[in-house]
Amino acid sequence: MILQDPMTALNPVFNVENQVGEAIRIHQGLRGRTLLAKIIDALRKVRIPAPETRIKDYPHQLSGGMRQRVVGAIGISCEPLVLIADEPTTSLDVTIQAAYLRLLKEIQAETGLAIIFITHDFGIVAKMCDRVAVMYAGKIVETGDVRQIFNRPKHPYTEALLASVPKLEEKTDRLYAIAGQPPALYNLPAGCSFAPRCPYVIDRCKEEYPPLFSAEERHVSACWNWEQVGKIR
Ligand code: SF4
Repeated sequence: MILQDPMTALNPVFNVENQVGEAIRIHQGLRGRTLLAKIIDALRKVRIPAPETRIKDYPHQLSGGMRQRVVGAIGISCEPLVLIADEPTTSLDVTIQAAYLRLLKEIQAETGLAIIFITHDFGIVAKMCDRVAVMYAGKIVETGDVRQIFNRPKHPYTEALLASVPKLEEKTDRLYAIAGQPPALYNLPAGCSFAPRCPYVIDRCKEEYPPLFSAEERHVSACWNWEQVGKIR
């Protein structure tokens, strides 16, 4: 099941009952009172107050946070084993975002559901994730436990991404930015896609795309420097 931005995931002309009920009807074939009970149950699981009355509401009658909970109810209504959360908090303010992430953690603890988060927000990664896969130009370039990725990044792109996050305790005149632009996916350079922007580039990088090398236990990096010198620096 995929969890998306609520501004685009909900249809504005159908009420909550129709939108949550559609997934259950299609996947579980429920009708009538059983369907209604299941819809209310899904809304209750995402802590929507008075779900018996809110089911008649349309998206424009709900706050951003409530709309996101309805999207969550649709997501978990058929008891999936995996939930893909694609930038699920993009349009929410920080307080609502924190409450929603807390809710997802609670649902995960209650149901044993696996959640795949797709995000550009390092704060969300640190708060929500156990394992992290970093992608560049459409491919996974590094995978590791969340602490490994934050404390000991093994791919130059991850290292540069982390360096570009402003730190509260550091005073700086200019924020770090990765030089250059990401490549167009229809016109990828030969070899490593990060080569034109990489400070550690070597000749081989421009010729062959690197496979994933084991950098430490449960931590892999698609970088030739892990084959040749055993470390990035
Ligand atoms: S393979 Fe080469 S260009 Fe690519 S990230 Fe590693 S050092 Fe940089």
